Amino acid sequence: IIRWSPFVQVFKKNRYPWIQLAGHQGNFQAGDAGSVLKKLDKREQNCFKKVMEDILRPYVPEYRGDVEHMGEMYLQLQDLLCEFNSPCVMDIKMGVRTYLEEELSKARKNPSLRKDMYQKMIEVDPNAPTEEEHQQKAVTKPRYMQWRDEMSSSVNLAFRIEGVKKSDGASSKDFKKTKTRNKVKDTLISFIGDNTDMLTKYIQRLRAIRITQESSEFFKRHEVIGSSLLFVHDESGNASVWVIDFGKTESIPSNITIDHRSEWIEGNHEDGYLTGLDNLVSILEEIENE
Ligand code: ATP
Ligand code: MG
Ligand code: MG
Repeated sequence: IIRWSPFVQVFKKNRYPWIQLAGHQGNFQAGDAGSVLKKLDKREQNCFKKVMEDILRPYVPEYRGDVEHMGEMYLQLQDLLCEFNSPCVMDIKMGVRTYLEEELSKARKNPSLRKDMYQKMIEVDPNAPTEEEHQQKAVTKPRYMQWRDEMSSSVNLAFRIEGVKKSDGASSKDFKKTKTRNKVKDTLISFIGDNTDMLTKYIQRLRAIRITQESSEFFKRHEVIGSSLLFVHDESGNASVWVIDFGKTESIPSNITIDHRSEWIEGNHEDGYLTGLDNLVSILEEIENE
């Protein structure tokens, strides 16, 4: 029996429910056996090409070239869910901010006002907009994104939970205000349940990802924004994590490198990715030791 929820769609081709916890639904299509198609974006395509040559390769979905589908181009990616049975899935967006430096400076030069973002803002917190923003009934994109980062745990923990689908079928994307360490910890506990072996697998995999990212050439040369760690496990005890979503991963000027832990000062391109991973691992270790 298939449980329907807003984030689960059944790809007829694959014959199993596919879970998408972020992004527009139309961005993904079923691919050939074991693959999923994501709408092609040049920046992301570039990153996948580079990552396939980097030590990070075992930790990202395999990139299998591009395909055309109904007149649109798609990246063909390894479907991370296909080895699992009724998987539980969690998407954690890494980093202290979710906008590129480039977006910030563009918006400053040409501050286009977004009514849709104003609407989303007041739905969560009617008091968030300034008087001027209330009058315009609009906000700029970076202002909206900065506010979202501030509301969630992105600014204080350098990661935030984007979406979860648990084993009981319950799924949620309602973590916009999940900000404190304790609230995040509770969400992680409820995702993992009481399976300590699985928790150990997750922690080991995250440590392996971290040590790889610390020496990855790709990581040294890219501002990694809006990328997620995708957690997947199932009843059989199978559990793993992958690095996904390079839609906002941009190479940085060749005269600088970043360590993903130093404080972000506009211009230095730091993204806080590894600070977030440190915090995430430390919370999971705390759960493991309780
Ligand atoms: P956004 O930028 O809003 O986060 P997006 O359009 O860039 O969205 P992704 O973040 O790459 O899309 O993916 C959205 C969701 O789709 C993920 O949260 C995950 O649930 C699922 N997903 C993405 N890639 C894969 C994959 N290779 N295998 C399995 N599931 C995937
Ligand atoms: Mg994403
Ligand atoms: Mg994206």
